[in-house]
Formats: sequence, structure tokens, C-alpha cells
Amino acid sequence: MRKERLFINKKKRTKWWISLAVIFTILVGASLGTLSMYNWSVNQAIQGLFYNTKQPVNVADDTGEENPSDNNEEDPTSETPDPSEDELDDVTPPTYGENEKTPETIEEPTFVEDVLISNKQNPIPATYDPGESEEAREAFLAMKAAGAAEGFDLVAFSTYRSYDTQVRLYSEYVEDYGQDEADRFSARPGYSEHQTGLSFDIGEVGQEIHWAEDSFQDTAAAHWLNENAHNFGFILRYPEDKEHITGYKYEAWHFRYLGEDLATEVYNSELTLEEYLNI
Ligand SMILES: [Zn+2]
Repeated sequence: MRKERLFINKKKRTKWWISLAVIFTILVGASLGTLSMYNWSVNQAIQGLFYNTKQPVNVADDTGEENPSDNNEEDPTSETPDPSEDELDDVTPPTYGENEKTPETIEEPTFVEDVLISNKQNPIPATYDPGESEEAREAFLAMKAAGAAEGFDLVAFSTYRSYDTQVRLYSEYVEDYGQDEADRFSARPGYSEHQTGLSFDIGEVGQEIHWAEDSFQDTAAAHWLNENAHNFGFILRYPEDKEHITGYKYEAWHFRYLGEDLATEVYNSELTLEEYLNI
């Protein structure tokens, strides 16, 4: 038996060579794949190291002077390859500090075409303290009434948040989730749109389980808001698959008041506010 098994005829020898070639090809392919993954992760690790060691100083430091220009030079977005749709979670969103402005150094918020801008490139002064916008509240109440007619009991569970509140919130999130993840759903102090008094986080009374949760996007109330909020002057500020533009994950509950005309224009354009204003 053993002799028979050891005997390799010509046909078997050919098969053997083909098998060897296939195995060799697989091994080379796997090595190259591993190598490129290794390079990628090393690259990411270096960027992560820089980001994590530099950025907290920017947030916690009272002066906040030294980091913005540094971060600009090391902007991780410049070296990140284009991800496929499946990898949207890995998209590097806009980063903080791409200019000299910080909440501690600026005196006035940024306006573009009369629209108050608060995003990761445009902080608002730490001292900016307008409270909740009365106009936005009235618009919300009108929307709430219209929602009630459709069977939704809408509530704005978070609207104006002060700089100090955001300091506390953000540091808690960083503690719980780490900075990279926290930056995807929470603004750093001085960068939150809630500090403008024009942002309303909306949910349903008695449905706290969906408040500020991804599960809200599948509710009938979220669908209704998505299609009707502009009629009351609100836009869905952080739409799905736009994290690379807005800097934030999809938030089906976060609405920004712009007034009915502009909100309707932005809604019809199907663009984010950043794209619409070309900022
Ligand atoms: Zn919000």
C-alpha cells in the first residue's frame, strides 16, 4: 500500500505541480495582503497616537493656542484612502482645529450668508450664551401640533446647551467611549450646535428608549419629521452617510432651525448645510 501511494505517475505529477503553484500563489497573495494591512494599521496607529495625544490639550487647555495649526499639518484626512460604501464607519470625518479659531480666542460666531455656523471647523465663542431661540421654540410648537394630528407626541428633549454643560457632557462621553468614538456623536465644548440655541433634539413622549438612539430612525415619527420638518423651518442636520462632510454620525433626532424658506431650500437640494452653503 505504501509503495502504491508513493508512486506518482505522470498525470499525478502534473496535478501535484498545479497544486503546488496554487498554494504558492495563495501564500504570496496572503503575504502581500497581510503586509498592506500591516502598513495601514501602522499608519492609523501613528495618526491615532498623534490625534489622541494632541487633541485633549486643545479641549482641556484654557488657552487652546498651540494645537490648531499643528493639527492642520497632520490632518489625517489627507492620507486616508477612499473607503468603499461598506466601510463608511471608517471614514475619517472633518477634524477640529483646521484654522486658528478656537472657542476661547474668537469673539463672534461665524455667519455664512446670515446663517450661524457651528461645526468642527467653526467654533462659537465660549462666552456665547443666547439661550434657546424663541423663534425656534415657536416653530417647534407648530410642528408638534402638526405631529399630534398625525398621532405623534413630539418632545424636544434637548435644545440649548451652554458651553459649561457641553464641557461636562463631552468629558463624560470621552471617559465612557474614548475620544475617537465620542467625537462622532458629541461635539467638543464650543463646537456644539446646541450652544446656538437653534438645535432641537426631538423624540416622542414616553419613547425615551429611542431618544438620541439609532433606533429612532426606524420610527414612524422619525420618518414624518424627516419629510416634514422643513415646513416648520427645521432641517435634519446630520443625515445618513454624510459623516465625512458634517463630521457627525447620522442623527435622526437632531434638527437645526433655519427658518421655513431656507430649511425648505436646503431640504429640496438634498444637500447638507455645509454643502448647501459651500463651506
Ligand atoms: Zn443634538
